[in-house]
Amino acid sequence: ESVLERVARVEPTINAYITLTAELALEQAREADAKLAAGTATPLTGIPVGVKDLIVTKGVRTTAGSKMLENFIPPYDSHVYENLRRAGAVMIGKCNMDEFAMGSSTEHSAFGPTRNPWNPELVPGGSSGGSAAAVAAGECLVALGSDTGGSIRQPAALCGQVGLDPTYGRVSRYGIIAFGSSLDQVGPIGRDVEDVATMLDCIGGHDPRDSTTNPEPMPDLRHYLGRDIRGIRIGVPKEYFISGMEPGVAARIEEALALFESLGAVVDREVSLPSTEHALAVYYLIAPSEASANLARYDGVKYGFSDRSAPTMWENMEQTRAKGFGNEVKRRIMLGTYALSAGYYDAYYLKAQKVRTIISREFAEAFQKFDVLVTPTSPTVAFRLGAKVDDPFAMYLNDIYTLPASVAGLPAISVPCGFSDGLPVGMQIIGNFFDEGRILQVAHAYE
Ligand code: GLN
Repeated sequence: ESVLERVARVEPTINAYITLTAELALEQAREADAKLAAGTATPLTGIPVGVKDLIVTKGVRTTAGSKMLENFIPPYDSHVYENLRRAGAVMIGKCNMDEFAMGSSTEHSAFGPTRNPWNPELVPGGSSGGSAAAVAAGECLVALGSDTGGSIRQPAALCGQVGLDPTYGRVSRYGIIAFGSSLDQVGPIGRDVEDVATMLDCIGGHDPRDSTTNPEPMPDLRHYLGRDIRGIRIGVPKEYFISGMEPGVAARIEEALALFESLGAVVDREVSLPSTEHALAVYYLIAPSEASANLARYDGVKYGFSDRSAPTMWENMEQTRAKGFGNEVKRRIMLGTYALSAGYYDAYYLKAQKVRTIISREFAEAFQKFDVLVTPTSPTVAFRLGAKVDDPFAMYLNDIYTLPASVAGLPAISVPCGFSDGLPVGMQIIGNFFDEGRILQVAHAYE
């Protein structure tokens, strides 16, 4: 009830939710009370959570931030929502996002932008901006986001929260509305490292309904929290410290590195990952290519928005897609269709896949020498609403620090790391495959 009161007070300014599920939340909270009274509480019993609106929830509208799915009521639950409920969580609502998770500011939502709780004239980052803002504004205690190229880490950074993008294959994508299937991963945003670890513990693990999930049992993540980091080897790739990065961001990361050293970690600032600069091009070919295939299903026939005003089937499909998708989504479909088309496939898509392999190899070599890599999460702090929305390239450039780990499928966390110009800065800690425990350990020691 106190969270719902808070939502009522701040939501007119923040717009973190597309759909509020207050009645359902109270019902789930009553169940939680009963469990607590009976002494059968589980880790998330009664914890109010926000759920990004591309995570399918049975009977609760799931829009992916798009007009295309404005009235879509899913007939089934996603794996992650099932797990949250099993752990006792209470869902407050479905969080706002860039349409189909394409964007870095939550301005590409068909349901209006979300605003940054630190200053409502600024964006919260994206695409999981609703999830990050909801946590930052006290409109839930933890939230789920999704990360294809930075969409958990960057909004967590811009809103001063902790955000964890797990290893590709750690969390089931069953019931996640697809964007780039070789990149998409669900993960938590929370106020501190322990909350995020608890959430990952609940949602992670093998799911036979997603064949890319890791069959190994989840490690005991709590075992890593509170452990010291003496002797931990931290690599700092120099390609991440480039012009265009705000000096305040660089200064905060440098201070964090000094703190790691004072805690006994061994920091090497001379690491080189030379293909880092190509991750942006690789990502913006592969993600749109996969998106163009995934979004072909929105044809106005099976479900979702449908314009049936024209006399022929083809015209109806054209009208459905013309009116149902926003500009950024159309841009991605065109980019992806082009990159995959005969005659261009070898030059763009295939080349991008090859460079993707090189990027992965460079990371693999680095992880032979280091336990984790530390970088900034974003080159800038939160920017003004409207500043980049009409300049796609400027928007894409904001993702340069989060894309490499995504392209390689590696886990990465963003933790709050002080302020620049009065706004939160995020530090990114990248780990080796399925080594979320290690990045949580380092993040927790820093916190
Ligand atoms: N900003 C990136 C994009 O627009 C990443 C989005 C994401 O991770 N979902 O594609």
